[in-house]
Amino acid sequence: MSVYKNENIFSKILSGEIPNNTIYENEYVLAFEDINPQSPVHALLIPKGKYTSMTDFSENASDKEIVAFIRAISQITKIKGINDTGYRIISNSGPDSSQEVPHLHFHIVGGRKLGSILP
Ligand code: 5GP
Repeated sequence: MSVYKNENIFSKILSGEIPNNTIYENEYVLAFEDINPQSPVHALLIPKGKYTSMTDFSENASDKEIVAFIRAISQITKIKGINDTGYRIISNSGPDSSQEVPHLHFHIVGGRKLGSILP
């Protein structure tokens, strides 16, 4: 498992060093608009804790962090108005997935027909 690097972009967003368009926030999570949206709705959901990937989070996060992360999904989809039309959640973990930012994030995409699961 890779070691968490504090200089990653999402760490800087959490510290306020880089601005973001916040969709939803609580003690454990932050959700914000992706800077380069791939669909009409493209939210990023991140834990406030320092986890590199889904593997790291799944192994090491507390129950409270995990529950808060999953519960946040419906808050975000409600705010973005995509519960009825549908959406897809993607989480890239590690080199084969082309994960760019080494802080766990869920992409929540919707607002159009999304096509097949893999390009
Ligand atoms: P990954 O490839 O790691 O799964 O996805 C990283 C995502 O972060 C990309 O969709 C990219 O557009 C987004 N991103 C990269 N830098 C920034 C930034 O500074 N602000 C925001 N809001 N999103 C970013």
